[in-house]
Formats: sequence, structure tokens, C-alpha cells
Amino acid sequence: MENRKIPLAGVIGCPIAHSKSPQIHGHWLRTLGISGHYIPMDVTPEDLENVIRTLPRAGFVGVNVTIPHKERVLEIADICTDRATLIGAANTLIFRKDSKILADNTDGYGFMKNLEMAESGWQPGSGPAALFGAGGAARAVVAALLHAGVPEIMISNRTRVRAEALQSEFGKRITVFDWVQAGNMLDTAKLVVNTTSLGMIGKPPLRVPLDGLRKGTLVTDLVYAPLKTKLLQTAEEMGCSTVDGLGMLLHQAVPGFERWFGERPEVDSATRAAALR
Ligand code: NAP
Repeated sequence: MENRKIPLAGVIGCPIAHSKSPQIHGHWLRTLGISGHYIPMDVTPEDLENVIRTLPRAGFVGVNVTIPHKERVLEIADICTDRATLIGAANTLIFRKDSKILADNTDGYGFMKNLEMAESGWQPGSGPAALFGAGGAARAVVAALLHAGVPEIMISNRTRVRAEALQSEFGKRITVFDWVQAGNMLDTAKLVVNTTSLGMIGKPPLRVPLDGLRKGTLVTDLVYAPLKTKLLQTAEEMGCSTVDGLGMLLHQAVPGFERWFGERPEVDSATRAAALR
């Protein structure tokens, strides 16, 4: 009998029950006919390092990492990609054959790929972007947009100092607006992104006045529950193009899956359906 190890991967968070990653990776494993498994793991911050160091010995080829561990894993990893270092957080760990742990951040890749696939007409160089929020996800989005050539990013965050921290780190292409003036960013924006958790099921609504939105502006929301947020609904009614946040979640999962299981999966309507099940 063949004695081949079945590759294991998973997602580590605390809590983890809400994660859609097991559905996404499970769907790809099934449709590609790969004999591997992807497991959700609820791990406390106290146990994180021990668990990560034990997993390779138990047959794991890597894991995704989510809240609240995304920053901490950079200290545990032996090697960090440039983008993970720049963002200051990782969402993907690869357990290499040489026993080294590599940390990567694929959120920015997922964000850009989602826009490219859903809205092929949008050119990053076409004009300024406006961002609501300055948390962890915003850092990945800012790094990706600057890398893609967006000329200016206007940021407004409830806690202004967090937006200013992004400005001092990412440089003079960033401008900061007070949270009460967030609506003023919209008149010149070619792209509008909500990176806050506002508008998500169970969270308060995004109350930024949207009357400054212009027809034809591309509007996207990182929140994907609900799929069509109030922001996207209003933007659509005002003649904007809209892209929901589920695609980002699907695309950010692709590089990890490919590294762990050796095949690059497709993000298609069946993947979306699997994530929504
Ligand atoms: P985070 O680091 O905790 O940041 C949360 C952001 O939301 C901060 O800018 C925070 O502002 C703002 N915020 C929260 N409550 C607020 C309120 N009541 N009023 C005004 N602002 C408020 O979280 P994150 O990791 O960046 O995630 C943000 C959202 O993106 C979450 O909904 C997450 O699910 C989503 N996300 C989606 C994807 C995807 O693949 N689609 C990937 C990553 C994240 P303060 O700084 O003032 O607190």
C-alpha cells in the first residue's frame, strides 16, 4: 500500500466558527480531486506559538491566520515576504520543507484581483481613491493601491491618528480627512473603498453622507455579510459601478491553496456559491 502523507491545512483564529475559508478550500479540494483536508482551529493567543510549531509535525503544509493573530505570527515566522512586512500582518503561513515558516499577506492581492476581475475598465492610474477606515485591512488595501499606481489616496477614519499613522508610513500620496468630513472625499474620487466593519451584519451602519458620489465612480466594500451593503446599494442607485467584498475573500485564498496543495484553483461562480452555503 502506498504510504503517502495526506496534506493538511487550515485556518487559525479566535473565534473561528464564522470563517468561510473551510467552505472555500473544501470546495477546491473536492473539485480538483486533491486528497487533502482544510480544518478550522480555534486557538487562543496563549497557545498560538505552540500550536503553530507543532502543526508541521502533524502533517500540516500551512495555515491561514485570522483575527486576532495576524500581527503576532510575523514574530513567530522565520521569513516574512516584503508585502507582509510592509503591511505589518500576515494571513498565510507556509511550512516549508526546510522547516522554515514563511509568512505572507495576500489580502492586498485579493483586493486588487477582485477589482480587476469584476471591473476590467478601472485603471488604477485614472485618479484618486477614497478610503473609509484605517485598520488592518486598510493597510493591505493602501499598500496594494499604491503599488498598482493610484496617484492619491484620501483616508478618513473615526480615530484620526490611525489614518495619520498610515500617512507617515506610506508617504505623501496619502491625505487625511476628519471622520466628520469623510463625505468631502467623494467629489474627486475615482474609487471609493469601505475598509471599516460598518455596515456588516451586527455592526452599526456606515453613516457617511454619500451625496458627493459621482456617476461612474467605482465603489467597493470589504464587508461581504450582507453581500450588498447599504453603501453598495446607494452607490448603485447613484449610477456608480459596484464590486462586493466576497471576491476579495475568494481571491486572497488562491496563493495559499496553490502553495500548499500544488494546484492553482479557479475563482468562479461555483466558488462563490460554496462560500455562501
Ligand atoms: P480592524 O483592524 O479592527 O479595523 C476596523 C476599522 O473599522 C477601523 O478603521 C475602525 O475605526 C472602524 N470602525 C469600527 N467600528 C467603528 C465605528 N463604530 N465607527 C467608525 N468606525 C468604526 O478590522 P480589519 O481587519 O481592518 O477589518 C475591517 C473590515 O474588513 C471587517 O468587516 C472585515 O470583515 C473586513 N475584511 C474583509 C476582507 C475580505 O476579504 N473581504 C478581508 C479583510 C477584512 P477606528 O480605528 O476608529 O476604531
